[in-house]
Amino acid sequence: MRIAIPARGRLREPTVALLQDAGLGPEVPGERALAFPCRNAPVEVLLVRAADVPEYVQDGVVDCGVTGADLVRERGASVSELLRLDFGSCTLDAAVLQESPVRALDDLAGLRIATVFPRLARELLDERGIDAELVDVTGSVEVAPRLGLADAIIDLVSSGNTLRTNGLRSLGSLFSSEAILIGAREPDDAALHLARVLRSVVDARGTRYLMMNAPESALPLLCELVPGSAAPSVLPLSEPGMVAVHALVPAADVWSLLPELEAAGASSILLVPVERMVA
Ligand code: AMP
Repeated sequence: MRIAIPARGRLREPTVALLQDAGLGPEVPGERALAFPCRNAPVEVLLVRAADVPEYVQDGVVDCGVTGADLVRERGASVSELLRLDFGSCTLDAAVLQESPVRALDDLAGLRIATVFPRLARELLDERGIDAELVDVTGSVEVAPRLGLADAIIDLVSSGNTLRTNGLRSLGSLFSSEAILIGAREPDDAALHLARVLRSVVDARGTRYLMMNAPESALPLLCELVPGSAAPSVLPLSEPGMVAVHALVPAADVWSLLPELEAAGASSILLVPVERMVA
């Protein structure tokens, strides 16, 4: 099968890392290569512009592609979203100059807004019933208000640093994006198989395997603290009245969970990464 991934930019490296972690064995060549094979799977990877990935998938040139959800919407491509990949997160925000009197998204009505996402911006403004004039630019959209080209911009934001550097203030987000795996409208078995393999890695990255010892009497409280779909495994220890508890926990919960487990009586707490999670 063939998949298309971004040749450059912020999505390239995390995409290659995902293929690596999924065990495909991508034979990544130099920066200028146009394609590369995988050692462990019958997959050929094409390197194309992130913005062109939706069209390659739609036209059947490749079976699957990785790109930003924003670019799929902007292209209006007829493809299916197979998996959200949990990287490349950003929002499409409307922003104005710091000193602008405009305070809220609804105040954009009647203004000129510069964007490199004319189609998506129009759709999102229409959804909110905001009638504004879009100024279609191809780059450096942040300077448009300063140049007097537009009253506001609609652009991608992740940290907010670029907005701040250019003296802009966000009015709020219109759309949340992240990298996604896309396939044909009716994906074939190979595409669905790739989606399952990648899902096992994406799910595992967001999960930790928790092991701890505790007095049996602490079990009800510990089970409450580590709920989730899979019930924890409870194993007897050689010390009477003591058990080992093993459970899968969301990586994002670990920070707040650890002190709570200790306070509930857990000791010898170990957290280990999970490589794959297959339902
Ligand atoms: P790039 O090729 O680096 O211009 O990025 C292409 C894609 O990366 C965008 O279409 C988004 O899906 C994603 N992305 C994530 N964060 C940002 C950001 N702060 N600015 C622009 N693109 C971003």
